[in-house]
Formats: sequence, C-alpha cells, structure tokens
Amino acid sequence: MAELMIDAKDVTRNFTISRGMFRGKQQLKAVNGVDLTVERGEVLALVGESGCGKTTLAKVLLGLLPQTSGTVELCGQPINDVPRLALARTIQPIFQDPYSSLNPRKTIGSIIALPMKVQGIADQDSMRRRVEETMDLVGLPPRLYDAFPNQLSGGQRQRVAIARALVNRPQIVVCDEPTSALDVSVQSQILNLLNDLRNELNLTYIIISHNLAVVEHIATRVAVMYLGRIVEIADTDTLFKDPQHPYTRALLDSVLTPDPNMGIPNNQLGASYPNPIDPPTGCSFHPRCVNAMPHCATVAPNGKADGGHYVECHLYDDAS
Ligand code: SF4
Repeated sequence: MAELMIDAKDVTRNFTISRGMFRGKQQLKAVNGVDLTVERGEVLALVGESGCGKTTLAKVLLGLLPQTSGTVELCGQPINDVPRLALARTIQPIFQDPYSSLNPRKTIGSIIALPMKVQGIADQDSMRRRVEETMDLVGLPPRLYDAFPNQLSGGQRQRVAIARALVNRPQIVVCDEPTSALDVSVQSQILNLLNDLRNELNLTYIIISHNLAVVEHIATRVAVMYLGRIVEIADTDTLFKDPQHPYTRALLDSVLTPDPNMGIPNNQLGASYPNPIDPPTGCSFHPRCVNAMPHCATVAPNGKADGGHYVECHLYDDAS
C-alpha cells in the first residue's frame, strides 16, 4: 500500500481583514474545507489563479501557517505536534525567485550549508562534504563553492536554492512556481533536474503553479483550486484529456493563449475573479461559468469522486 506523506482533512485557513475604522473586521477564507492526500513519490500540482489559496494551503502544509480548523498529518503525525526542527528535516520549500531568496553577501557553500547549521550540525568537514555532494547532485560545479550569488546565472541560482532545500535530505519538497523567474530556455532544465532528483532521492513534491505547461511536464496529479476550494483533482493525464469542471476547462483553454503565464482571460469567462472577502453564494464559480444553472447561484455543489477523479460541480449531480 502506498505510503501517505500528507493527509489533510477539512482544512480551513482564515485571515481577519480590517475594513476600515468604522466598518469593523471581516473573515477571508483563503483555504476553505480542503481534503487532500499526497502519497510518497507523487508530484502533486496545485493550480489556479492568484488568490485561489494555493500558496496559503502550501504554507499550512509546510507548517508555516497554522490551520484555523481541520487536521493535517505529515508522515502519520499531526503537523502541530511535530517539533520545528523535525518539521524542517521532513518538508522544505523552494521559493520562486532565486534572485531574492539568496543572501548576496554569503558564499554559495555557506548558503547551502545554512539548514545544516540550523539543525545544529557543527562538524565543518562533514558539512562541507554534504554540501559538495549536494552541489554535485543538482549540477553545480565545485568551483562555485566560494562564489557569490551575483556571479551565477539565474538557472545556477535556482540550483543553489534546490541544493539548500535538499541538503538535509527532506522527504517532501514544496516548489512555489519553481521556474517562473527563469528564462524559457532554462525552465525545462530545472524541471528535468527536479524530476531526476525525485527519482534519485525518492522525493515527494507539491508544485504550486499557474503555468499548466509546467504542470503537464512534471506533475503526476493535479488539484485545481478556486476561491479556497479544490474543485477538481485527478491524475495529470486524466485532467488534461478529460477535464470536467467548467473552471478547469477554462484554465486549459487559457494555455492556448499566446502567454501561458497570463492565466484565464476574463473576456472568455465574462466576469473577473471574485473578491475572496465577499465570495459568490452557491457555487462560487457561478458568475463566470458558461454552464451555470439557476440553482448554481444558491446551492453549493457537493463533491463527487469517480475513482481518483474528484469534481465539485452540479453538472455531475446524480439527479441533474
Ligand atoms: Fe458551473 Fe454550476 Fe458547475 Fe458551478 S456548479 S461550475 S456554476 S455548472
């Protein structure tokens, strides 16, 4: 049986937003009742437009933000019970911008070694050996050990960020838009590297992206998020060949636009992304949905699972 690395149940994360001096405060549900499992070796992509909750969900799974309600288990243990250092040995992030995430005053060797120092590893020889071994794994030549970030190309800096995340050999890596800051020519090299590392180190990935070309290239399963909910989840082949949720179909159509980074063209959907502080009633996608039915505006759809393919839409209700 596959090993469960992440088991999230009914996870909600709210933020309190001030509406001004006389209008009080309001709750923004950035993540709203998400159920999610991730097995060892999977590459799960979280996709959706800016503001859909994918980054907040990833921060909850990383233990960087506590969930407001619901439970998250990491390798079988409630995340809130895992001590910080143990958590950092288990799950690590790779941020999207290798330009701003590397300290310009530190050498590459010391940037990659930092997570080992945080874990209290003090032996200089073993630290250097592990850093050099990790540089080799990610394709960085040893001569860069004493170089500074400004002497490296964008692709090399992203390799440094990957090496830093992997130096303590975590089991799960969360990659937030891992290639969006890179030239197109370098993007596929980094994606291929992530794939190779996954096989070599038996890693599990969560990839956050709004670029479906990247997702199709690397993910084994895709979760589509809209206004804090997972509205469809399926293995990558199924999702790309047989998308069921109208939002997923619109997302896939947006790939055909000249710039895949631009997300969903609003003219196709007829309305812009709603304000998450004041989400639409019923199915939250109904103001933009080309298939909306009268009851979509008042009744939220229940999810329906067919094997591993889950979709949350009234089109698939048994009685519709
Ligand atoms: Fe569209 Fe209705 Fe399905 Fe929502 S429930 S996606 S509005 S058809």
